[in-house]
Amino acid sequence: MAQLLDGKALSLEIRETVKSQVEFLVNKYGISPHLAVILVGENPASQSYVKGKETACHKALITSTVVRVPDTICETELLSIIDRLNAYVSVHGILLQLPIPKHLNADRIIERIRSDKDVDGFTPKNVALLTNGQPYLVPCTPLGIIRILKKYSIPIEGKQCVVIGRSQIVGKPMASLLLKDNGTVTICHSRTADLRSMAKQADILVVAMGKPKMIDGSYVKKGATVIDVGISKVDGVIVGDVDFESASLEAGFITPVPGGVGPMTIACLLENTLTCYHTLVGA
Ligand code: NAD
Repeated sequence: MAQLLDGKALSLEIRETVKSQVEFLVNKYGISPHLAVILVGENPASQSYVKGKETACHKALITSTVVRVPDTICETELLSIIDRLNAYVSVHGILLQLPIPKHLNADRIIERIRSDKDVDGFTPKNVALLTNGQPYLVPCTPLGIIRILKKYSIPIEGKQCVVIGRSQIVGKPMASLLLKDNGTVTICHSRTADLRSMAKQADILVVAMGKPKMIDGSYVKKGATVIDVGISKVDGVIVGDVDFESASLEAGFITPVPGGVGPMTIACLLENTLTCYHTLVGA
């Protein structure tokens, strides 16, 4: 039976550390770190994610502002909101909650965010830095996964790492981070032939597909580390992309859903906000 990788416990540790750093910085400089979140429309999942981010900021003594705009907003208006947030000295981090409505070009809007306020690490400059092996602001989910692997002393160097999913927010940055730590990295996706045999070669298997419970024990090499990024609601219950029961019989280490990668994403968002603060305040 696999050992659980407890992302929830680690995230609480990180959040406590962020909080004490914020206390120190506020005492020293008199300025709180401040995250601005832009929420377009009223998508219930997005609202709930934003609420979670606000609560986490509050607990870590980080100021947060949610800029709520209707889903009918035009691109020019949204870009001008970003320009204003870019210019405010008191705002250190800017996050555009995704997805946004189809009539808005997400790439163009994200590109407008100042790269030194880009807490999600999605702007072209931060993507390029990561791809070049010089990560600065890194997408929170893959960053959280690396933190879990390090916490549990799971070696990456020289290991076969298979990432299932090639999204900009998880799969691709995950692959870059594993490569930076000298893993041998394979990215699989919806057009990969024989996914099972590819996955089964992995010492570290990161699954980010959005297909509830698809990866069962038959995809897992004995003793492998399995990281489940998936979050789907099935019959009102949150499940991952990994079939935990069967995969945990094969794996050496495994993240649960919930309580694995999800809480680490928020913890790393707080850390990234602090990184922006350090750069902008010169602290
Ligand atoms: P996405 O839809 O952008 O990408 C999914 C990827 O999976 C694609 O690259 C696709 O090629 C691949 N894929 C889909 N079906 C496949 C198949 N049958 N075989 C092989 N590959 C397949 O999704 P995303 O934004 O990367 O998110 C993936 C999952 O992770 C979702 O469930 C999402 O909710 C979750 N997620 C969780 C967190 C977190 O904090 N835990 C953060 C982001 C995303």
